[in-house]
Order: sequence, then C-alpha cells, then structure tokens
Amino acid sequence: MTDPRNKYESVFAGWLGAKHAFSFWKGRVALYAILRAMGIGAGDEVILPGYTCVMDVNPIMYVGAKAIYVDIEPETFNIDVNLLESKITPQTRAIIAQHTYGYSADLGAILAIASRRGIEVIEDCCLSLGSRYKGKLTGTFAPAAYFSTQWNKTYTTGLGGMAICNTDELAAKVRHICNMEMKGVPLSNSALLAIQLVLYNVAVYPQTTTTVRKIFRWLSKKGAVIGSSSMEEKESTGMPEDFFMGLSRTQASFGLRQLCRLEENIKHRKKLTALYDRLLAERGWKVTRPPENTEPVLVRYPVRITNKWGSLEKARERGIELGAWFESPLHPKETRLELFGYRQGMCPVAEKAAQEVVNLPVHPRVSERTVRQTIEFITEYQQASW
Ligand SMILES: *Cc1c(COP(=O)(O)O)cnc(C)c1O
Repeated sequence: MTDPRNKYESVFAGWLGAKHAFSFWKGRVALYAILRAMGIGAGDEVILPGYTCVMDVNPIMYVGAKAIYVDIEPETFNIDVNLLESKITPQTRAIIAQHTYGYSADLGAILAIASRRGIEVIEDCCLSLGSRYKGKLTGTFAPAAYFSTQWNKTYTTGLGGMAICNTDELAAKVRHICNMEMKGVPLSNSALLAIQLVLYNVAVYPQTTTTVRKIFRWLSKKGAVIGSSSMEEKESTGMPEDFFMGLSRTQASFGLRQLCRLEENIKHRKKLTALYDRLLAERGWKVTRPPENTEPVLVRYPVRITNKWGSLEKARERGIELGAWFESPLHPKETRLELFGYRQGMCPVAEKAAQEVVNLPVHPRVSERTVRQTIEFITEYQQASW
C-alpha cells in the first residue's frame, strides 16, 4: 500500500513545478528542516522582515542562529530591498523572502543581492500559494521554500507544512535529517486532528451556526482541540520536545483532496480580490497596486484603517469576519519581542502597519454578498494613509 504522504508530496511538487517536496507537521517545522539542511547554526544570522509571525523566528533560534529584522515597504508589506544590504554581515547565512499576504517579495533584487554576497535565500510561501513573480510560481525561485497548510492558509490540512528543495543536494540533506530525527505524529494527535478536520467544514466559517462555533471554542479552551501555537512558542526560545514531527496520513489524504480544488480556490481568491479593489476604489479608498511583474493570490485582503482595534471588536459584535494579521512585528501581540531580539523602533514601517492593517476574507466560502457587506462595514472607518 502506498503512503498517502509520498503521493501528497509528489503531487504538490508537481503542481508547483518544484523539484522536491517534504511534508511536515507545521510550516515552521519545514523551515527548521531547511535551516538544518543548510547547516545554519550557532553564530549565524538569518535576515527576515520585521513584519512576520513569531513562528518564523522560533526555528531560527532552535538551530542556535540569530534573527535580524529588516523593515518593510508600505505598499506590499514585504522586505524593503533598499535596506537589505546594510543588514548583511559576515555572519549572515540566509535571507527569508516572505511573500506577505500573497504579494510576492522583490525576488529579483533579493536573489541578486544574495548571490553577490554568497548567502542563501529561503522563500516563505506560507501566505503565497499560487502567487506568481514574472509568471512563475513563488516557491520555485530560491534553493528552498516552505509552505503552511494551517487552518487559515490558502488551503488547509488542519496543521501542516511543506518544505521545497530546488536542488538535489539540499533535498538529500533534508531527507537525511528526517530519516535520522523526525518523529511520527502520535496517534492521539492524529485522531484529534482528524475529528477537527471533519468539524472544520462546519465549524470554521462564519455562516456556521453560533452553537457549533461555541462548541469549537469551548473545546479549544479545554485543550481538546489542537491549536497551532502554544504559549511556550510565544514566550520562550527553546525547542519543544515534540517539535520535529511529520504529517499524519489523514492530513496527507485531506491535502490531496484540497489540491484537487486548488485552481478553483485560487480563481475565487483572485475574483474577490478584484471585487474588493473595485468597491474600495469606488468609495475613494486607495488600493494596493502590486508590482507589475507580480500576480498575487491573497490569503487575506489587507486594508489600513485608523481604528484597527475598535473595528475588530465591532466586527466580532456584528458577526463580520475580520482578521488582525499582523498584530505586532512578530505576530501575535502576546509575543515577548525582546526574547526574539526585536526592539521597539527597529522597523517603524512595520510597527505602523501592525497598528493599522486588518484583513478582509477571500477564502472559498466567502460570497460576493459577504464581500459587499464587509465593504459596507469597513468603509464606516477611515483609511490610514501610507
Ligand atoms: C502561517 C505562517 C507561518 C507558520 O505556519 P505554521 O504551519 O503555523 O507553522 C509562518 N510564516 C508565515 C508568514 C505564516 O503566515
């Protein structure tokens, strides 16, 4: 009997047009495997945007390296390449090119700088599955990339991640580390996640009855539902015992089914993005114009407003689905920044964005009617300028 994980990995790599794919329990675990395979460790520095999830920083610290933060440019929320060179030191080993919300980072500039300085590039595609740069999919440019299929991503396997290696040499190293060190998913986790995935279809989306959502939340509080982050990960920098885990068979099978619907999913996201653009422009709001050589597929549609925290509370009251990514330069807002080497003022553009950006939904269950309602809601607020 073939293992669904092998099939899932090869279908994923095939769809992307990448050489090798390796599935993991989470996206952050995929990053960890890549860093290890690149031999990045104590004394090394890894550059990433100061507008990211703390989950991206954890693996850097787990291998013993230091995270160096670069500010973003305000239109696409990606690394400001003009600031990049000044952050490179003799200790720099890699740059993480995060494609924020689905907007492709300036890969041309990043790859050129990295190659000139002899450092690696890792694409963070956790929010950019399907996004293109110069006509080619993100995740196929750098020697390595990683994806997440956590609950809120383009498609989900509950939790899940994928590491992409675009060279045989790096792939052999990832494979070796997995063979030596990777743990299987304990049956208890795998079973719980399977139940969650079934519940997911009823429970996660806003149209669902409030009762189901209440049950889901109550279960989460009781710790019966597998959340994506533990307090440990936001408050300490040591690697949890059960961190380096693979994907379960159930998740892989679920992923394979999601991949079959991926083209449709992407088309839907593009259509709703265009609708948000149009409706906002009609109301006189400034709309993000992605660089011409990019074709974004958004996980969520970001807008800047002057009353972010008030609007999030009001949205909850009114049953409007509104996201808060990112709440902090190292999302979420509970992150103790100083533990991760981030000091207030390091990335002012990112800090401003964290106070202003809310996200409008574009996932497969959002209808055009919901888009219109969301626009009615959000345009009661004032747009923040950039
Ligand atoms: C979701 C996300 C991650 C982490 O993914 P997990 O699968 O939860 O580990 C990392 N980086 C970014 C930008 C993300 O959006």
